Amino acid sequence: MNIHEAINKGKLILEKNLIKSSQLDSEILMSKAVNKDRKFLILNSKNNLDEQKLNFFYNLIYERSKGKPIAYLTLKKNFWKYEFRVESEVLIPRPDTEIIVEQAIRVTKNKSKLRVLDIGIGSGCILLSILKEKKNFYGVGIDISKKCVNISKTNAYKLNVINRLKLFNSCIDNFKYGKYDLIISNPPYINKFDLKYLNKDVVNFEPKLALNGGLDGISEIRKVIKKTSELIKKNGKFLLEIGFDQKNKVKKLLINNGFYINEVFQDLAKNDRCILSTKI
Ligand code: GLN
Repeated sequence: MNIHEAINKGKLILEKNLIKSSQLDSEILMSKAVNKDRKFLILNSKNNLDEQKLNFFYNLIYERSKGKPIAYLTLKKNFWKYEFRVESEVLIPRPDTEIIVEQAIRVTKNKSKLRVLDIGIGSGCILLSILKEKKNFYGVGIDISKKCVNISKTNAYKLNVINRLKLFNSCIDNFKYGKYDLIISNPPYINKFDLKYLNKDVVNFEPKLALNGGLDGISEIRKVIKKTSELIKKNGKFLLEIGFDQKNKVKKLLINNGFYINEVFQDLAKNDRCILSTKI
């Protein structure tokens, strides 16, 4: 069977399993199976596939047909200007989270040698993107998941920022290291009872540890705010990602912990998604 025929077959299997972007996904998975980019697939569509590659491809199609996200099959995801390694233990970077990077760069314009802390670093996508943009900033990342610490380390090597980064495998309550000019966080903020309403690909495959915000959805946000108020310098900036309906509650928490609210940013779907505040 040639590349074109196999892609078609993969597409039909995905379609039958109600995967929406069946053609695109089948092409991406073929790229992975033959380890070539999509341009190669088009130019070499009549090439025959050996049995090993074909089996690998069908295996990927099978996993995708069960809903496993593409990023966990290709083991990578683009975020900001870079490609990040992801594995099933880390949350897949979301385009909405790029707001934090964008604003971090804006609020630190003309500043140098700042110390930045990422609470719940995950794949490293936020902090490492900032370190790439700001060549003399220094980063610290913590995560309760050992696997996340390891993956963000891998990504830091790949992006060549490892010499400006320190990583800790720690829960937030026990973390006491350093004082920071900028703190960023995308903590778990989905209400425990609402997890089941998330897209099946998300709820069945992405780590609950990165999504579950407890009974009220803001249990982890509360901890992050409290810890941030201890570790941030006076006049330091804090960028926090929140759930679409959490703005008012989170604003109140911030104010009670000594922060001034600068601005709330919306995501592409016009949901409140990120709060910028300053420690006073
Ligand atoms: N934005 C993610 C989602 O909707 C949730 C990320 C989080 O809880 N921090 O799946």
